Amino acid sequence: MTDHPPAHADPPADSGAMLTAFLDAHDAPCPVCGYNLRALLGNRCPECGRPLVLAVGTTEPRLAAFIAGLVGLSCGLGFSAILLAWVVTEALFGRRGFFPSLLELALLVAGAVVGGIGVLAWVRLRRRLGRLREAAKWGWAGAAWLTGVTFPVLFLLAVR
Ligand SMILES: [Zn+2]
Repeated sequence: MTDHPPAHADPPADSGAMLTAFLDAHDAPCPVCGYNLRALLGNRCPECGRPLVLAVGTTEPRLAAFIAGLVGLSCGLGFSAILLAWVVTEALFGRRGFFPSLLELALLVAGAVVGGIGVLAWVRLRRRLGRLREAAKWGWAGAAWLTGVTFPVLFLLAVR
């Protein structure tokens, strides 16, 4: 048996004291409910009860490229998944004898799968993206948009 703490140990015991010391001298809103935590004792927001930690932040997270890419991929996923659900529902339960072509179905399925995998991969790679230079980030964001909208655009061309 060793006394090493587990990899995901609780915050060190003195972090509560540092939080108290910081709030003793500073106004700070609760990040959840906005309650002013100045002079707080303990480590829970008295208004909403959430546990609080003292943390280091950045004033300039530069998340714009990440968010832009996420929006592009999410658009592709949402477009394809919603239309796919509608097309399948209509084909199975609709009254008009409507049935999509195999090509249209394939493009919607491809758009939903690529969009879904793209969103997951994009979120997982966020930290790696954050380390790139700004121009490279926007290049990847553009690639994410292309990936997201390719199958929806092909679908729109196919149904015309
Ligand atoms: Zn709160």
